[in-house]
Amino acid sequence: MKRIRMPHYQFILFDLDETLYPSESGLMDVIGERILQYMIHKVGIPADDAPSKRRLYFQKYGTSLRGLIEDFRIDPADFMQFVHDVNPADFFGASPPLDHMLAGLPLRKIVFTNSDVAHSERVLNTLQVRPHFEMIIDAHTVNFKTKPDPLAYHRALELLEVDGFGCIMVDDKARNLIPAKDLGMTTILVGSNGVSSAVDFSVPTIFHVEGIIRQLLPIER
Ligand SMILES: [Mg+2]
Repeated sequence: MKRIRMPHYQFILFDLDETLYPSESGLMDVIGERILQYMIHKVGIPADDAPSKRRLYFQKYGTSLRGLIEDFRIDPADFMQFVHDVNPADFFGASPPLDHMLAGLPLRKIVFTNSDVAHSERVLNTLQVRPHFEMIIDAHTVNFKTKPDPLAYHRALELLEVDGFGCIMVDDKARNLIPAKDLGMTTILVGSNGVSSAVDFSVPTIFHVEGIIRQLLPIER
């Protein structure tokens, strides 16, 4: 007999960068440096202005890409290819503990990222956890209306044919969890980027997510 659980969780949406691997790996520092290089050498923004512009874009839009599209109409695919031209294997390796944890989580797993599919595939393959994820929702999928734009979350829910109450979202940025919470998702903040009312649970590392999920689905074991 199938037992009833409330709410009826179906999906876990995982952010990719600095959620599935630790920020100390340094991968995003290098990608951040490449974003600045792109702004300076490809877009022509003066080197002195690029860092402040990047910060402004991040605050205003959530990503530099979105700001560069708005202000300079850059080609998003070209930007994505350039900034992610980095080998994740130079920063971290396979993660058997992550593989083990994901295998034990009973819900359907999705990557929900502001990066692109190519970078996501490289990261997931390096960690050796790719088979656990049935879909990668990337910046292209959401027409570059990336997190924390509410449109990104609506698009994700539409694709998954689920409402927010059926989802648990895991991200290392509290600001990305605000629209998720507004849509009824249960939210888990990974790492220590601060807390907000949008955060249901705050955990130090991705490996602590398992305990929270077990708490949320107590009768599934
Ligand atoms: Mg992240």
